[in-house]
Amino acid sequence: MDLSFLNQIGVQYTPQARLAEHTTFRVGGPCLALVECRNAKELTLTVLTLRQHNLPFLLMGFGSNILASDQGIHRIIVRHTTTTPNISMRACAEPNLYLVTADSATQLDDVVAYTINNGLEGLLPFSGIPGTLGGAIAGNAGAYGQQLADTLESLTILRPDNSVVTVPKSAIHFEYRDSDLKHNGDIVLSATIKLPRNGNIEQMKNNRAANLAMRVGKHGRWQDTPCAGSFFRNVEPTSKAGPRQSAGWFLEQAGCKDMNLNGAHSYHNHANIITRDVGAKAQDVYDLTCAMACAVKAKFGLELVREVRLLGPFENAPACDPQGYW
Ligand SMILES: Cc1cc2nc3c(=O)[nH]c(=O)nc-3n(C[C@H](O)[C@H](O)[C@H](O)COP(=O)(O)OP(=O)(O)OC[C@H]3O[C@@H](n4cnc5c(N)ncnc54)[C@H](O)[C@@H]3O)c2cc1C
Repeated sequence: MDLSFLNQIGVQYTPQARLAEHTTFRVGGPCLALVECRNAKELTLTVLTLRQHNLPFLLMGFGSNILASDQGIHRIIVRHTTTTPNISMRACAEPNLYLVTADSATQLDDVVAYTINNGLEGLLPFSGIPGTLGGAIAGNAGAYGQQLADTLESLTILRPDNSVVTVPKSAIHFEYRDSDLKHNGDIVLSATIKLPRNGNIEQMKNNRAANLAMRVGKHGRWQDTPCAGSFFRNVEPTSKAGPRQSAGWFLEQAGCKDMNLNGAHSYHNHANIITRDVGAKAQDVYDLTCAMACAVKAKFGLELVREVRLLGPFENAPACDPQGYW
């Protein structure tokens, strides 16, 4: 596929890039081409140019919430991620509140570190969640009962009709680990978060260090333990007063922690973190997770819902998978 017109807008692309090299599960065959965008300007130019050439594409951030098929995907992937944080802050009209704006390619953890270094409170629970700010907003990332959308003030979005708009958070429907953005083709270019100043920076830094250490203990680092975080969403509460119930608990009770399919298995500390040994394929992970979901259904009559997005075709997938193929 000739994408040389992208050279004119200064973005890099790799034909037949293997998704295994661009996802934290480290599996996945080739895509038609992978276009690398490091900031909102490159992303906007890339998307407008691809649309002008009628070339469909899929948007990816850091690839930390994706299981990519061994067969790859017959699509262009636009990857929007950077290791160079692009973040700024300003005082808000309300006392003691500050607005932090970041390019959506920025890593979420860099945004967390920035806010803590500036004495701002509210993002600590998100310390160590891999991936971009854009990916975290689209999936309404969360931890310790908090969701990223709670801290959002506004978003700048590139729409499918090529318009760029800045909208308040209330214009987007956010749910547990989900938002309109995952389904309607809107692309987050940047986001503004509103946070109070706490002042006790040293205390916050210590809390962050403890939080990061706890994460590693709970599910390792993706660099050593290929995975995409929790594979299944936690389960809806059974009453309005109740909290969500851990999918890991149901998996463990259904005996899923001991399952191993050609090297695809749960992490020893966490039944809902599915990982793989060297050699295990994306299909093995897919088959294992289907077997796990069946075991939970058989024991509890409960349908677990995947949190991880599937990219590309998988064998034995039901014709109308309830979550569809992304
Ligand atoms: C070790 C590990 C621990 C994890 N822990 C947590 C956790 O505690 N909590 C949690 O919520 N998640 C967790 N995750 C999952 C993952 O890190 C988050 O879902 C993360 O926010 C995904 O960001 P990403 O950039 O990698 O998105 P990707 O995986 O690349 O993409 C995910 C979705 O976001 C969309 N998207 C990406 N960028 C944009 C954009 N700019 N505009 C619109 N849509 C976009 C993509 O199209 C795709 O649909 C963990 C993952 C790992 C590997």
